[in-house]
Amino acid sequence: MVEIFARKALIQKGWAENVRLAVNNGLLETVEEDARPGPNDTVVGIVIPGLANAHSHAFQRALAGRTEERSPAGRDNFWTWRERMYALAGKIDPAALTAIATQAYNEMLASGYTSVAEFHYLHRAPGAARADESMFLAITDAARQSGIRLTYVPVLYERAGFESPQPIGSQQLFALEIDEFLEHQSRAAEISDASVHVAAGVHSLRAVTTSSLQQVADLARQIGVPMHLHIAEQQREVDECLSSYGRRPVRWLLENLDVDESWCLVHATHMDTEELASLASTGAVVCLCPSTEANLGDGLFSLRRFLEAGGRFAIGSDSHISINPFEELRWLEYGQRLAAQSRNIAAFEGAHVGRELFMQALHGGAQACGQAPGEITAGAPADLVVLDDDDPMLVGHDATSLLDALVFSGYRLPIERVMVNGVWRVINGEPVGIEESSRDFAAALQRIGVA
Ligand code: ZN
Repeated sequence: MVEIFARKALIQKGWAENVRLAVNNGLLETVEEDARPGPNDTVVGIVIPGLANAHSHAFQRALAGRTEERSPAGRDNFWTWRERMYALAGKIDPAALTAIATQAYNEMLASGYTSVAEFHYLHRAPGAARADESMFLAITDAARQSGIRLTYVPVLYERAGFESPQPIGSQQLFALEIDEFLEHQSRAAEISDASVHVAAGVHSLRAVTTSSLQQVADLARQIGVPMHLHIAEQQREVDECLSSYGRRPVRWLLENLDVDESWCLVHATHMDTEELASLASTGAVVCLCPSTEANLGDGLFSLRRFLEAGGRFAIGSDSHISINPFEELRWLEYGQRLAAQSRNIAAFEGAHVGRELFMQALHGGAQACGQAPGEITAGAPADLVVLDDDDPMLVGHDATSLLDALVFSGYRLPIERVMVNGVWRVINGEPVGIEESSRDFAAALQRIGVA
């Protein structure tokens, strides 16, 4: 049993004062307001729920900051970045993947993410004749070492494009036949302990056949797990889909698959007005990754229209060009402001933008990961973030503006502690295993020739 006394906490009903939390077996046993601290309580300033990082390619953490030089041709874009990413993928063996992912997951914990959906298509180690479980086990090992809550999303990747039936070059590392994929998904679920939630996914419309997409979606529905895919991230993908399928990607998906709350559409950047409204009405969650989308020059999601139609979103750090949920939310809103030449886009009727963004990301993230709503209430998982109420960023802010300050007013986060599943994983602002993981990360990068 761990007991925590928080001077302020964002619990299910809203902000509350003097909140006492009893944690047992990874769950919040009781949540008591207007309480007094007990003799063994850990007394803290502010407690908020941890956020889910709904879209991660952990291995890409090794590429952050290494693709920012302009090429002589001067035509740098998503597709040229992808070549660099493929070159990295070709160097990632299971040991390197564990080291890189452990570091990425520790950084996530330090910035207030308590769970991650790992969108994993790196099924084959370099030189391996066929896919095996070693790359999947590297991911679960990293989650175990860091303590982050893992939703493992095994991803099917079959072909190079709509009109290219085979994977080419480095895509061979990702390739699985549909039967191999189905076997891997069920085997992953079978050998995972209760701390790992195994979902399902396909890379994108361009990377799988329509019949395989249907089979993976059927499997997800049958076993009741989230179904993830990248969609409409790039204009070129929209053009190719129009030319091959006669529809824009999101329109085609909605017409051909039974999309509902269990679906997570990653990016969905390029949608027309009708697609935005239709997708919002399904209850599916869109995973927005603003720092990656900006870094790759993807385009800007029409957030206001989507929210007006009742759309739900999660956030993800995707390529891990940076790992900070509050920065994702800040840039999500700032992109909209720059485009609209207006302010306070993501809130309605006098609401505060920081609070609205946070609550959307909290609920949407939990939905995308197939978890409970992420709120602080009795019976919920004890996934908590402790903020320093003496920090100049937060001092003097009351319940109305505290999350605005957290989202908009700083780079350095005032996070003191993070708990996942009832265990403190960050103490004094540092992930418990960060020294070892930083050392292993540096050694792995050197060994595979990235640094
Ligand atoms: Zn992605």
